[in-house]
Amino acid sequence: MLPNNKKQGQQIIKGIWIFNVIALIGITITLVFYITKRPISYPISPNITSTQISSVSAENPSSHSYAIPMGTLVHSPTPIIGNSATPFAPGKRPITIGYSVAGRPLEVYQFGNGSTARMIIAGIHGGNEWNTIVLADELITYLQEHDETIPVDKTLYILRNLNPDGEERAHTVDGRANDHGVDLNHNWPLFWQPDWRRDDCWNYRPLTAGAYPASEPETASLMNFISLHKIDALISYHSAALGIFPGGRPPDPASISLAQAAAAVSGYEYPPTKTDCDFTGNLADWASAQNIAAIDIELTNHTDSEFDRNFRVLITLLNWKK
Ligand SMILES: [Zn+2]
Repeated sequence: MLPNNKKQGQQIIKGIWIFNVIALIGITITLVFYITKRPISYPISPNITSTQISSVSAENPSSHSYAIPMGTLVHSPTPIIGNSATPFAPGKRPITIGYSVAGRPLEVYQFGNGSTARMIIAGIHGGNEWNTIVLADELITYLQEHDETIPVDKTLYILRNLNPDGEERAHTVDGRANDHGVDLNHNWPLFWQPDWRRDDCWNYRPLTAGAYPASEPETASLMNFISLHKIDALISYHSAALGIFPGGRPPDPASISLAQAAAAVSGYEYPPTKTDCDFTGNLADWASAQNIAAIDIELTNHTDSEFDRNFRVLITLLNWKK
């Protein structure tokens, strides 16, 4: 029995080996056939359609959007931070309230946290009146080191440069308009006119009032900020000469009172020098209609910040009683 069993066992093993060899050959043939006949594929299809590309970016808007408190116009998704470099120590950072036509941030510094809000605005005429921006920066620098200047019941906002595109373009009359060629002090939605009489009215370069009231992102951003923050008195700085202009047509009593108080401490002229220029659609008139005491102050030239006089104006603005 033993030899027979052994012979049977050897035959079974031989059969298993033959089966294995045949199976391996079959598997090899199948694999070779599969590899050589299957279609060529790429990790990424080279035929991405425009629809697919746009749907990808539409699904990811957050990576290119910015939190703007006022929900104002953003003409450029990429703010040009490098051109808004401010000469202040790090720590107190400005609020960006919107962007210029070219995408430069409009920066507001806040001081104090009282219930009554007041505001200083510089640079509405950009590089043509660049010394107003220098003044704003000097006031900001001082206040960052002297918190105690702000009364406990007040909040002060300083917008250092409403027209950064004009300021970047030139420190001459060429820097007066924004990047749409608009004079931002003719773009406000009260007494707005598409055009104005140009004689004796700073008509050195082609300037427009904008396509419609508050058409410009700079105007719309500041309008929203002023309305949302319940500003009750403001100063908009210009240069040069003429004096202090109160808002309103005719000027409202609160704006006249603030103009007189500012004139008393600064020596800037009130009433201002008469001019035939019709300031259609200006910021101070619009603010006056919002029950805000509003004045334009003209520095005496195009180069000096006149800090000392305007520091006294700042103290007056902070302590003036409406
Ligand atoms: Zn001006």
